[in-house]
Amino acid sequence: MIDLLPNSGNEYQACLHAHTAVSDGEFSPATLKARYQALGYSVVAFTDHELLRRHDELADDSFLPLAGLEVTFWSHAYERDPRPPIIDQVHMNLIAVKPGLDAQPWLDAIQCARYANRGERGPVPPNACLPEEIEAARQEKHIVEHPDKSRYFDAKTVRTLVREAREAGFIAALNHPVWSHLSLADADAFEGLWAVEVYNRDSEHERDDFYDSLLRGGRNPGLCCLATDDAHCGYHIGCGWTMIRAPRLDLPSIADALEMGQFYASTGPTLLSVRLEGDIVRAETSPCATVRLIDAKGVAGRQDAADNERGIWEFQLDREPHGYVRFVAEDSKGKTAWTNGRKLG
Ligand SMILES: [Zn+2]
Ligand SMILES: [Zn+2]
Repeated sequence: MIDLLPNSGNEYQACLHAHTAVSDGEFSPATLKARYQALGYSVVAFTDHELLRRHDELADDSFLPLAGLEVTFWSHAYERDPRPPIIDQVHMNLIAVKPGLDAQPWLDAIQCARYANRGERGPVPPNACLPEEIEAARQEKHIVEHPDKSRYFDAKTVRTLVREAREAGFIAALNHPVWSHLSLADADAFEGLWAVEVYNRDSEHERDDFYDSLLRGGRNPGLCCLATDDAHCGYHIGCGWTMIRAPRLDLPSIADALEMGQFYASTGPTLLSVRLEGDIVRAETSPCATVRLIDAKGVAGRQDAADNERGIWEFQLDREPHGYVRFVAEDSKGKTAWTNGRKLG
């Protein structure tokens, strides 16, 4: 028997990808907290571009701020042309799962300077990158081989950053791979990832097939999937979230739950239980129209119901599942919930 959802603990709704005025977001960290709390969220990961900033002052009994940052890799196309015709960036979120982390060994001088120079366009936000941080990035804190340039997207650079991030106490998520024009072959560049986005409100057209490519590739054991707002402004907020199961709302408990994949992603449906017993799938969801069990070969089984108000599902797989299994539920409006993949055997 395989449980595709954790069956104990409290539920905490989380936004795991959000920007504030520290980089290019509209709201201050405190305002962002208030906006999410009003929707019932308990956790927000603050993932400003290139700048790790702690917001411990926002923590209280009902809210846990997670520290993080979003790092950019540039396509090699930028070496040939500073303005290539299509977006060619790969973004990765690093979220601190150890307490007290504020060292940032991957400063990117160009990106930091970009945000520090916001003064040309308006007031510099109080947490903007400090000049000494930019200088430190120029001097020595790069991990890339181009000391005066940014990080380039190649397998070695990506794997090095992920490995060093994990060693330092961060988990690494690949953001919006469709927006980044990543091919399925590019999945091979990644190793040691914790999660990948299957939904991103800001980039709007993410899918979950890149998640399957990474799961099939096998370099990222236990890989999870995320639905995120990538919140930059008001209309992004509350569109895609992570529902975490954990015993308590504190960093050790939430960090454990994240690392162990004790959560599911959603843009609408609620998942109450999902279980595979032999070749039978049993699940309980909010009202949905379609549920599917996905494996390494594709769809191993599905059930459709024009209007399943009860959300009780039971169906037999069409064939024996291969490699891994994950469950997807979709309602009549196309809103979707995804469990994390679970390796078989
Ligand atoms: Zn991004
Ligand atoms: Zn972002």
